Amino acid sequence: MVVVKVKGLKKSYQKHEVIKGLDFEIRKEKCIALLGANGAGKTTILQMLSGLIKVSSGNISFTGIEEGEDFRKLIGYLPQHPVFYEWMTGREFLEYAGKIAGLSKQDSKVRTEELLELVGIMEAKNRRIGKYSGGMKQRLGIAQALIHRPQLVMLDEPVSALDPFGRREVLELLERLKKTTTILFSTHILNDAEEVCDEILFLHNGRLVESGTMEQLRDKHQQAKIDLVFK
Ligand code: ATP
Repeated sequence: MVVVKVKGLKKSYQKHEVIKGLDFEIRKEKCIALLGANGAGKTTILQMLSGLIKVSSGNISFTGIEEGEDFRKLIGYLPQHPVFYEWMTGREFLEYAGKIAGLSKQDSKVRTEELLELVGIMEAKNRRIGKYSGGMKQRLGIAQALIHRPQLVMLDEPVSALDPFGRREVLELLERLKKTTTILFSTHILNDAEEVCDEILFLHNGRLVESGTMEQLRDKHQQAKIDLVFK
């Protein structure tokens, strides 16, 4: 089942076109990597999909949304540089996020407990966020993005700034999460994409230069021996 369909998507900042006409679909309960070097346009795409910025032209359609309904209830978004209230505990932060997302007080508490378990920070739930490691903060950010039970969660470079331990914990979380939630995961590192994602959208200068399953792309590139690893 297709969750999101993108057609002819373009974005310009002033007269500078940075997204140059994209067509792709995201299917349910898959992890899709949006892979591209710095400046390729990953953040711009995620911001358009999440409604934070307007598209210049083209169309984004979400399945399961009625005319006039707010599509944002279907999606969760973790920005590249999430902001936390570091004086709050992890539990307080998620309960607060639930309130902001429109959950009842009781539901927010229930959802907070579920998510603390899912992201593996139950034991640290009463610790101030300022004391969390980088990996724990990213996992808390992912929990926040999931608070309203979205169908699709979009994560902007969730592991790029982490040490190897934090990176491993987040990738393991994504492995668990993709069983129930569709994930669009941006990264500039092919290894990250390969580890957890089923499909890849390879972006270069605002254009999709490759897309398909990992196997399809691996076969295609084996002969050409093209190194897709960016730094
Ligand atoms: P990074 O990993 O460095 O964030 P990215 O792939 O996410 O890279 P974007 O941040 O989407 O890329 O940027 C794509 C292009 O659009 C870049 O050339 C960037 O300089 C430009 N750009 C992004 N935001 C703006 C803005 N608000 N105004 C003008 N240009 C912008």
